[in-house]
Amino acid sequence: MIRKNYIPLQRLIASLTIFAFFAMPMVATAQTQITLHSNKYKVSDDVKVGREAAAEVEKQFPILNDREATNYVSRVGERLASSIPQQFQHPEFDYYFKIVNARDINAFALPGGPMYVNRGMIEAARTEGEMAGVMAHELSHVALRHGTAQASKSQKYGTAAGVLGILGQIIGGPAGAAAQIAGQGVGVYFLKFSREYETEADILGAQIMARAGYDPRDLANMFKTIEQQSGGGGGGGFLSDHPSPSNRYARINQEAQYLRVENPIRSSPDFSRIQARLRGMGSAPTMAEIARSGQRYPTGETTGNYPNNYPDNGSLGRVQYPSTRYQTYSTLGGIVRASVPANWRELGGDNSAWFAPEGAYGQYQNQVVYTHGVNFGVAQTQSRNLQQATQEFLNSLGQGNLRQRSGFQRTTIGGRSGLTTTLSNTNEATGQAELVTVVTTQLRTGELFYMIAVAPENEWSSYQAAFRNILRSVQINE
Ligand SMILES: [Zn+2]
Repeated sequence: MIRKNYIPLQRLIASLTIFAFFAMPMVATAQTQITLHSNKYKVSDDVKVGREAAAEVEKQFPILNDREATNYVSRVGERLASSIPQQFQHPEFDYYFKIVNARDINAFALPGGPMYVNRGMIEAARTEGEMAGVMAHELSHVALRHGTAQASKSQKYGTAAGVLGILGQIIGGPAGAAAQIAGQGVGVYFLKFSREYETEADILGAQIMARAGYDPRDLANMFKTIEQQSGGGGGGGFLSDHPSPSNRYARINQEAQYLRVENPIRSSPDFSRIQARLRGMGSAPTMAEIARSGQRYPTGETTGNYPNNYPDNGSLGRVQYPSTRYQTYSTLGGIVRASVPANWRELGGDNSAWFAPEGAYGQYQNQVVYTHGVNFGVAQTQSRNLQQATQEFLNSLGQGNLRQRSGFQRTTIGGRSGLTTTLSNTNEATGQAELVTVVTTQLRTGELFYMIAVAPENEWSSYQAAFRNILRSVQINE
């Protein structure tokens, strides 16, 4: 609920005096005061519901395990959280901040304080102020207890069962862009707030921004940035979770007139550095891709090195997204060094080594089949001409349905000139359409060195960045 709160007379006179010197018109004199909605739940219920929802979120979404980036986002978040006006501070709340490794321009906060900012949001923001704007808006929903207030409207009594009802709305209820995910098996959805709540979160967000030393107009600017950038692929779910009141931009800027900030923080070297760091990680999956694979995601722990270990007990199944952390291996008797996602393991022997995630390899009709990963190897060929030798090699692979999709293109591998081509195939074990990219170059011995990258066709875009990074990391020593 919003009402005007006029500032004390002395302060008004003081500011009038200052403004009189500059002969500026004094129109706006008061910032908007927001009052809490009636809420049938205890503050501790917000904490409880949020904690359970956070556990579910962290099971279902890939949390980016990058200490530097997370620390940075947390520093901004904590500055904002400590700038929440006294009357909306709840000592029971625990504000903390994590990054979701997703491309969509979105962020969400849960009752009681857990906040999740998508990598896509940080990459899209033009300044630290814009990123802080979205975070201040989210913090405001939490501080104003909008989740439980909304549930209070639809629940007769604020009972434990009611709390479960809210959890149902967060974890199970269809809402906005999340409904799209609903059909695809990820069970975390977000509350879709009413436009009244949105306006409140904008106004309190603007006030928090100013108190924290940011320009509140950057909150309005961020909504523009979201609108502009959500058109393309990987779009933004933010505006469907946080429906725009009709005058959103104007309303925030109007409020900003009442909020004076000396030398507001717009951007910072930290922001530019972290943004570059995140952009350098390659493309993050979209929420829809995450939902499609419907599984737990890697948190980036390093897996061990298992040289020359054949996958006699592997089995095809769910596969984790490639970790954004990499681990360097030396393989094929030291001929090749390459960095692969840290959640892949080495499998194979002296002439051919695979790197693949768990679930991406297994026995099928007495042979080992791979669905995702890369393979390095050395092949003997008749021809000394790279293109002819590569063609010979492809022919040697081509029993099944392997079909060349493109001609040969020049590329570089391990600092040498090479050739690349892409083939399509039907995986013999899964029956799924897959893409296979082959890169070749010649060794001094005249043998053909190859790298093969394979992934299901419908997941290819999620692996492209990892494949590119691996190719770039290859060193050949002979
Ligand atoms: Zn909102």
